[in-house]
Formats: sequence, C-alpha cells, structure tokens
Amino acid sequence: MQHPYGFIFIGGGLSSTLAAYTWLQLGYDKPILIIEQNDHLCGNHTWSFNQTDILIPAWNTLYPLIDASWKEYQVKFPKIERTVSIPYHTLFSNSLSAKIQFYANKNPLLHILTGQKATILQRGSIQSNPVIITQDKKEYSAEWIIQSTGQNTIDSDTAYQKFVGIEVSLKSDANLSNPIVMDATVPQKDGFRFMYILPFTPTNLLIEDTYYSLNSKLDVPTIITEIKNYAQNKNWQINTIDRQEKGVLPIPLSQKKPAPITDKVLPLGMHANLFHVTTGYSLATNYNFIWQIYPHLKDKHLHILWHKKLLEFYQSMRFYRVMNHFLFIAGKTNKRYRFLEVFYQRQKESEIARFYAGTNTLQDKIRIFSGKAPFKPSIYLLQSLLGRRKET
Ligand SMILES: Cc1cc2nc3c(=O)[nH]c(=O)nc-3n(C[C@H](O)[C@H](O)[C@H](O)COP(=O)(O)OP(=O)(O)OC[C@H]3O[C@@H](n4cnc5c(N)ncnc54)[C@H](O)[C@@H]3O)c2cc1C
Repeated sequence: MQHPYGFIFIGGGLSSTLAAYTWLQLGYDKPILIIEQNDHLCGNHTWSFNQTDILIPAWNTLYPLIDASWKEYQVKFPKIERTVSIPYHTLFSNSLSAKIQFYANKNPLLHILTGQKATILQRGSIQSNPVIITQDKKEYSAEWIIQSTGQNTIDSDTAYQKFVGIEVSLKSDANLSNPIVMDATVPQKDGFRFMYILPFTPTNLLIEDTYYSLNSKLDVPTIITEIKNYAQNKNWQINTIDRQEKGVLPIPLSQKKPAPITDKVLPLGMHANLFHVTTGYSLATNYNFIWQIYPHLKDKHLHILWHKKLLEFYQSMRFYRVMNHFLFIAGKTNKRYRFLEVFYQRQKESEIARFYAGTNTLQDKIRIFSGKAPFKPSIYLLQSLLGRRKET
C-alpha cells in the first residue's frame, strides 16, 4: 500500500482541484493525492460566477485561477433589458487543469494520478483510515478520502437546467463588451429558455442555449442549429466552432437532508449536493466551503464539522427549492420567463447579488413574492407544492 496521504481526492474535477490547490496555498503541509479517471483533470467546461458569490477573504486565492472577467453583465427579457453592475468571472477547465499540473510540478506535496478509476475498498470507521484501489490494483490510504466524483444520479423530485454551448470564432467584431447571462427574448419552448453569451474577445464568443425544463432530453444537433440561427440573427458570422460543451444539471424541487458522516470518507462538490439549487452552479458554493473548512483540516472531528457545514448549506437552499416550483411549474410554459423578468424588474443589485450567492434575507424573500404575481396561480403549482417530498 502507498504511504498515507493527508487527503486523497477521488475525482480530479472542479471541486477537488480547487480544494487541493487552495489548502496547499494556505499552508496545509501534508501530501495530497488527486486521482482522476480521465487522462486529464477538470473535464470540458467553462465555469462562471458572480464576484459577490465568493466570500471576500476567499477572493485572494481564487483570483489567480480566473481566465476572463467583466465588470458587469446584461439580462434581456421581452419587457426589460438591464445591465447589472456585478463583476462576472470565468475559469476555463483546460486552463485550470494546466495551472494545477504546473503547481503540482513545483509543490512536492501535490500528487496527481490520471487515467485511473478509483474505488473505495474499505471505508473503515472514524477510528481507522479508509483504503481505495485503482484500476491497476494499487491500494492507497489516507487520513481522509474526499469523494469528489461529480454529479450524482438524478433524484426523482428534480427538474433540469440543460444546455448546449459552442465557442465560436467570428469573421468580425460582435460589438459585445459584456456577457449576456440571460437573453430570454428567444422563442420559449421546453420550459423557460434563454441564450447565454460570454464574449471572451471581440470575435470569440461562447453561446449557450439553456432550458429550465422538467425533462432531461437534450437534442444536441437541433440546439446547435438554433444557436447558429441566433448568431445569424445578430449578424454574428461564425467562422469556426472551436469547442462544444453540454450539461444537464439537476435542479431539485425537494432534496434529502445530508446524512451524518460516520467514517473518514467526506463528500465534496456536486457529489455532496454543494450547488446552488436554482442555478445548478457549484463553483462559488464549493469555493466558500473549501475556504471555510480549511482551518479545521487537522481536527480529528473534521467529519462532524464537515457534516454541519453541509447541513447549513442544505438549509440555506430551502427557500430556493420552493422557488424552483415557480420556475418550472407555475404559469404556461411559454410564460415561465415572467418570474425572472419580474425579478429583474423589481430587485435592487444588492438583492440580485444575495439571490445568486444563496444568502437572501427574509426581506429579500418577501420582496421576490410581493407585488402583482407574474402569472395566474395554477392548480398544478399548488399540487406540486403540496405534493413535494417532505423535507426533514
Ligand atoms: C458543461 C457544464 C458547465 C457548467 N458551468 C458552470 C458554471 O458556469 N458555473 C458553475 O458554478 N457551475 C457550472 N457547472 C456545474 C458544476 O460547477 C460543474 O459540474 C462542476 O464541474 C462540478 O464540480 P465537481 O468537482 O463536483 O465535479 P466534476 O468537475 O464533474 O469532477 C468530477 C471528476 O471525477 C471524476 N471521477 C468520477 N468518478 C471517478 C472515479 N471513480 N475515479 C476517478 N475519477 C472519477 C470525473 O471524471 C470528473 O473529472 C457546469 C456544469 C457543466 C456540465
């Protein structure tokens, strides 16, 4: 068996690479191993977040990993267009992978093993170290194993945020200086639908067609045609398609409470349901978690604190799980965009920031549901709210 590490991460994606890098940067002094089944870390994504999603003291360690930044972004709905002055940032997965590999080359405490699927051989108990085994039959042990294997199998009481995105090079300038994080002026179908555009350079854009849908079907070729048509309508002439990404992210309508941790295997990332339950985004949530847990990494009761933090996050998402019913079930499909249209009409920037950070106050929550309702109350919504799985 290989010598014990402080932590072994099973899965080399967003949450594990951010955690290993940040903890070592902050001064953690035991070896860390990341095991990834693919031949490279981090998969194929662009990960974005609002600056106000990140805890202020955590910002310094995250900042060097950012690849693209904008001071503000736009949203567009049939009745309103708004510029939101909240800085917006993006990380590219290939860039994060390269930065983490580079960091591992100069920091002997960070070990990376790619191309090996890992399985837990012995979970052990709180008194004994867990053991994992890789495909090549090597066994590894650590004080703590972190399971950061990505999205769980989708639960029954779940809707979806699904999207296909293409990164394109244009023949000429798109005349776009800021992201359009929601262009809901597109024809509405399959739930609430919007285009998401990130302008990395004047001629290099990521264009994503996004659906808040009750089904997980994603017809990739048709959606790519839709994106090309959208670009054409904007007079953006596509020269080449340089990259493609897709996602079907779970948007829970209700969720099980995180179970107590009874051994030394700790969940992180999407696997721990550490994501904003309305946007499906996990970068900020995980980064804040990683940062807050750091001072306790050497605590022998780390598992208790870890669970407590997961539970606090689960509770902070309760309001959003109820709100998801309005995004997915209230109103007719082609009018569902009204919920966010009204939201962007009414909310102040500070309230928008707290909404995406998952830190809405009671007053914010009341304001979201105050005023004229964006659509008539429906029997389906009532049924769905009453029938939601009881949360503990
Ligand atoms: C296309 C796409 C775009 C997204 N965009 C955003 C965004 O803009 N902002 C945001 O906050 N969130 C975004 N998300 C949501 C979420 O942040 C990502 O899914 C994020 O990658 C989740 O991080 P993670 O570490 O939990 O899992 P992942 O990054 O998926 O990493 C899990 C890793 O574990 C590996 N693995 C699994 N099982 C094993 C095993 N047994 N042994 C070894 N390796 C294993 C996988 O190969 C994978 O590399 C996006 C998701 C997708 C799919």
